[in-house]
Amino acid sequence: MLQIGVLALQGAFVEHERMLDRLGIGHFQIRNRKELSLPMDGLILPGGESTAIGKLMDSLGMAALLRERIMEGLPVFGTCAGMILLADEIENDEKRHLQVMDITVRRNAYGRQLGSFFTQGTFAGKPVPMVFIRAPYIVEAGRNVEVLSVVEGHVVAARERNMLACSFHPELSGDLTVHSYFVEAMVKGGK
Ligand code: GLN
Repeated sequence: MLQIGVLALQGAFVEHERMLDRLGIGHFQIRNRKELSLPMDGLILPGGESTAIGKLMDSLGMAALLRERIMEGLPVFGTCAGMILLADEIENDEKRHLQVMDITVRRNAYGRQLGSFFTQGTFAGKPVPMVFIRAPYIVEAGRNVEVLSVVEGHVVAARERNMLACSFHPELSGDLTVHSYFVEAMVKGGK
């Protein structure tokens, strides 16, 4: 059975696990370096607060190993704060995190307080419901980055090789399209 590790330091990780259950994919929570070293077929970086997750990753000594595993080709899916963790550049923050994906993101791009909303969009050509919560979007993407979703002129989902990032929260809408894409095209497809 495929096993996907879900970073469980802070944020909406349980909701991702429920989505993986529905897809019949094995999963486990990653809370420390030891769990990060376990064999896995893919990795999910959940939404939450990127500053908090980043600090915990650093203080638990997990950041370098995470970066290494992703650079080696481990399929990774970052949602919302997870997108910020993956980004090479953050337009409006001093801090950088894993810096593995060739994207520049804007944090809280829709505003801090009123920045949460629901819309219908498309992901890789398929209709999906989208829940945005103080979400980032991508303001610049490198030439190897494939844009998978655009909402109101802003890139809200993209893929670069083994890395998938999205601004919205498919784990909260309950729609399986994005998780299925990750599992089929990137976790299974990469094998
Ligand atoms: N605003 C958060 C951040 O900048 C992300 C929000 C989320 O993950 N829902 O880290």
